[in-house]
Amino acid sequence: MYNVWQNALAEIEQQLSPANFSTWFQDTSLISTQNGEIVIGVKNTFYVKQLRSRYSSIITTALKNNNLEVKTLNFEVNTPTKSKARSREVTAPDEIKNRIKILKTTKNNSTTISTGLNSKYTLDNFIIGSNNDLAVSAARNIIDSPGSRYNPFFLYGGPGLGKTHLVQAIGNELLKRNPDYKIFYTPISHFYSDFVDAVRAGKGKEFNLKFRKLDCLIIDDFQYIVNKEKSQEEFFNIFNDLYQLNKQIIVTSDRLPSQIKTVDERLASRLTWAGAFDLQLPKFEDKCAILRAKAEQIDAEIEQEAIEYIAENVNTNIRDLEGELSAILLMSEVRGLTPLELINKGAISVSHTSKLRPVSSKQVVERVAKYYQLSVKEMCGKSRVAHIKTARQVAMFLLSKELKLSTNKIAAEVGVKDHTTVMHGVKKIESDLKLNFTLRDQIEEIKEKLYG
Ligand code: ADP
Ligand code: MG
Repeated sequence: MYNVWQNALAEIEQQLSPANFSTWFQDTSLISTQNGEIVIGVKNTFYVKQLRSRYSSIITTALKNNNLEVKTLNFEVNTPTKSKARSREVTAPDEIKNRIKILKTTKNNSTTISTGLNSKYTLDNFIIGSNNDLAVSAARNIIDSPGSRYNPFFLYGGPGLGKTHLVQAIGNELLKRNPDYKIFYTPISHFYSDFVDAVRAGKGKEFNLKFRKLDCLIIDDFQYIVNKEKSQEEFFNIFNDLYQLNKQIIVTSDRLPSQIKTVDERLASRLTWAGAFDLQLPKFEDKCAILRAKAEQIDAEIEQEAIEYIAENVNTNIRDLEGELSAILLMSEVRGLTPLELINKGAISVSHTSKLRPVSSKQVVERVAKYYQLSVKEMCGKSRVAHIKTARQVAMFLLSKELKLSTNKIAAEVGVKDHTTVMHGVKKIESDLKLNFTLRDQIEEIKEKLYG
């Protein structure tokens, strides 16, 4: 029973943001499964209510996927000793592998292909904003006529910006229109492990056939493609065959194929034959709209001002926005205060900025210089050497984005003559960031060091 719950949790974890998962599923346990009457143990009555209304269907699906009969699903407040039986850390990689194996054996035996889709991702609950409207219009086109104009559909963007949501929504919508449509969603890493397992079991051919029967293949997180010749070749072949047959192929990645070192050049270029669409960070208005919609979805009340506070302070991604919203709503229930009251009391600090405040401009400049192994004098000097200039521009960028200093002040901090040089520098980094993932990683690392 313990294992079943571990496996189910591993599956649930993949579908939720880390914040949501740990908020709602930490300290849960499977108390009883008799006659299909499932009882889940939770911390307190508040959790009973929330889990029942928000996560019943996810939990049911995860349990069923682990071969458990689910007739009714109930929640019960657990005693501390019972809940100790489970803690998140025990979700060992072996457990996850185990789960995948269970899924595979059950699924391979049935004749219908399991889609791998999660029905919670729909187009209706995907908020459209200036950060994603082009991608969404391509998605709509695909839903209306799969396998035509946007084939393959290549969607890229940083973590937590909605790639998985959007591509799964396409899959779910296609399926709604035509329930016989054969769709398969898989992260590339699972594609590989499945392939390797199939070959080992002498079932390489079946694996291949299964994919070739599809009407639509959705590959998530393509950046994890590995440089194992055989697996990549298998993927390439499947890709080509489906493409020839005008079957829809959808691929997501955190970066463009040309920026993934392990990917074969021909495959890289083919993936973006029909263009590449990106998801960007949402603007302030987009963030507010997303927060409002999410709160409405769970019938939670939250003041506009509280929404704006979160939107202003979370500058990372949509997953973090959701996480902060859940945390505030949870605390608001527990403390019996409204979200805005909590914020005004200083009872919560939105983690994505509260750590930004104490950092001084001097610290930013020093940190950037150190990261690029330069002295502050060197970095803030007149040198035009490329890497020194980049470091200087990164410093400008961080002073502008993190500390919101004026261009004049930034000019003084990094030793450049005038504010137009600063504006240019900041813009340069902004535009480079869209395509240069090494730079993106570097800036993240600097920020971590700065606030860590
Ligand atoms: P990615 O795959 O790019 O890392 P996800 O698709 O997992 O990101 O999105 C992270 C979270 O944010 C998910 O819970 C998703 O539902 C939510 N999300 C992302 N974009 C939107 C959007 N435009 N509207 C509503 N929710 C969104
Ligand atoms: Mg994803």
